[in-house]
Amino acid sequence: MNQFSDEKIRISYGTGIVLGLIKARQDVAPTTAYLLWDKGCIGSCSFCPRANGNQREERLSRIIWPEYSFKQILELLTSQPKPFERVCLQTGFNPDKTGQLKVLAQTLVKNGLTTSVTLSPSQTDLALELLDYGIDHIGIGLDGASENTYSLHKRKNWHEDWPKLLQLISKAKEKIEVHLIYGLGDSEEAFCKTISAIIDAGGRISLFALTPVNGGNPPDLSEYRRIQIFRYLYENSRINLDQCNFDGEKLVAIKTGKQPAIEMLDSGACFRTSGCGNCNRPYYNEKPGQKFFNFPRSLTAEEFSLALDESGLFNSDFIGQQD
Ligand code: SF4
Repeated sequence: MNQFSDEKIRISYGTGIVLGLIKARQDVAPTTAYLLWDKGCIGSCSFCPRANGNQREERLSRIIWPEYSFKQILELLTSQPKPFERVCLQTGFNPDKTGQLKVLAQTLVKNGLTTSVTLSPSQTDLALELLDYGIDHIGIGLDGASENTYSLHKRKNWHEDWPKLLQLISKAKEKIEVHLIYGLGDSEEAFCKTISAIIDAGGRISLFALTPVNGGNPPDLSEYRRIQIFRYLYENSRINLDQCNFDGEKLVAIKTGKQPAIEMLDSGACFRTSGCGNCNRPYYNEKPGQKFFNFPRSLTAEEFSLALDESGLFNSDFIGQQD
């Protein structure tokens, strides 16, 4: 028994299939259990169907999240053998519910579940508190990578939130996964520079493509592939910004030094979902059958080769070993 026995919680459709609650086929199963706890998000992100207190909406990104009793979900998550390596508790931003959120997070930890929690950028104090309780990682939904996109799409103040986020990262380092969405209007150069600033501070990047459930368009796949390559090489300390050439804010070349670039990309690991360990988020950004922005599984040799072509970088001097 726990304090959340009477609570309800939403889980992603794919999580429900793995837990045996939904009878359906899925091509790629989630390797993390995605839970959604939203008591009326007061955020107003332009791209989110649940913004402005719309907690009855069943979708987050393009995923459907049916609701179950928390007690039932906890029993299934803790049954042996455990169905998932990690639990990710996604939350709506509602400071009035912080007390309940802390109890919920502690309940997951006490039940032996390796847990990530996603928070808003203004919840940096709460992030540290949850890490103290034993939460394994915190995902921070920065989403926009510059002042312009942050104020336009998150409707929040970059000058307040960005320094606080950097402070949080300086304290908690790689325990912090910053969620960034490519496709909100940031240039490739601005996006890469924000990625580099977060990684330089000690954090890590969880990269998303814009899913236009509220209108707009997904990003250009070629641009997204270049951002993925940059993120992977930078996060793994294989390049620095001086090795990257931008032309009109487009990433046109990366000088990779003596090691062939193709080896540095580890058979396509660069194109896989990035974030906490075992987080693969299948179909967050694309429908089943559509081309993956983030591959939720290993790539075949053909898929790797095609993704490299799509990046357009291999027609440049990217592959050329330098000087
Ligand atoms: S990277 Fe994945 S597991 Fe980690 S906080 Fe983000 S969605 Fe959750």
